Amino acid sequence: MTTPAPSIFSRIIAREIPAEIVHETETVIAFRDIAPQAPVHLLVVPKTSRYRDVAELAAGDPALLADVVATAHQLANEHADGQFRLVFNTGANAGQTVFHVHAHVLAGGLTEGTLA
Ligand code: 5GP
Repeated sequence: MTTPAPSIFSRIIAREIPAEIVHETETVIAFRDIAPQAPVHLLVVPKTSRYRDVAELAAGDPALLADVVATAHQLANEHADGQFRLVFNTGANAGQTVFHVHAHVLAGGLTEGTLA
C-alpha cells in the first residue's frame, strides 16, 4: 500500500508552500483562504493529518474539535465583530475538496446564502 501524498494543508503547516498565517498554536493553525467567499474567510486546521473531516475529528478527539471552535471564535473577535459562520464541508458531495479536517470561518458581513 502506498502512503497518500500530504494534503495541501500539511504542506502549509510544514512551510513548504506559503500562506497568510494569522494564528498558530501547538495544535492548530489558521490562515486566510486563497479564494475568499466573505470579507473575512479564514481556515482553522488541526495540525494533525489524522482526521479527514469533522465527523472523524468529533469521534476521535472532541477536545481538539472544541479547540478549533474556540479558535474560530477568537479569530472572529480579532478580525471582525465576533459574529461568524462556521462551515465544515464533510465529503466530496458536500463540497469538500481538501481531506484534512478544517473549519471555514466566514465573517465581516455576510450576504444571505453565502456558503463556503
Ligand atoms: P473545502 O472545499 O475542502 O471545504 O475547502 C478547501 C478550501 O481550501 C477552499 O476554500 C480553498 O479555497 C482553500 N484552499 C485550497 N488550496 C489552498 C491553498 O493553497 N492556500 C490557501 N490559503 N487556501 C487554499
